[in-house]
Amino acid sequence: MNQSSEFNDPKGQGMPPPYTAEPPPPPPVTNPSYPYPPPPMATAPVQGVVFQTSPAYVPVVVTAMMGPKPASVTCRSCNQQIVTRVETKPSTKTHLFALLLCFVFWPCVCLPYCIDSCQNADHYCPNCNAYIGSYTD
Ligand SMILES: [Zn+2]
Repeated sequence: MNQSSEFNDPKGQGMPPPYTAEPPPPPPVTNPSYPYPPPPMATAPVQGVVFQTSPAYVPVVVTAMMGPKPASVTCRSCNQQIVTRVETKPSTKTHLFALLLCFVFWPCVCLPYCIDSCQNADHYCPNCNAYIGSYTD
């Protein structure tokens, strides 16, 4: 029998058909790497352009412009609106006036000491006794 001989043929045992491996299909493009749009920097709403309109801080210097009379100022020590307490004291100018009057018209020698405008005026805070400023004629 040829069949038996064919079955015994070692070359014909269950040889699978020649498997021609197909080239693998290209991987499916599940994540297309298309360039996503750039961040919208140009069209972003411009923030941070808030101008701070805080009023300029102007330190109040009250020492320079004090007059011979009590003045309403803000005490730098206790930060309260106060009317300064004025203490007058004779200045050099006062003594010069007195000396001059001593020669010219001596009964009036004490007059400069009685005139505030001829004396220095020291301003003090009535609350905390802080020295505010002085007035010198
Ligand atoms: Zn004060």
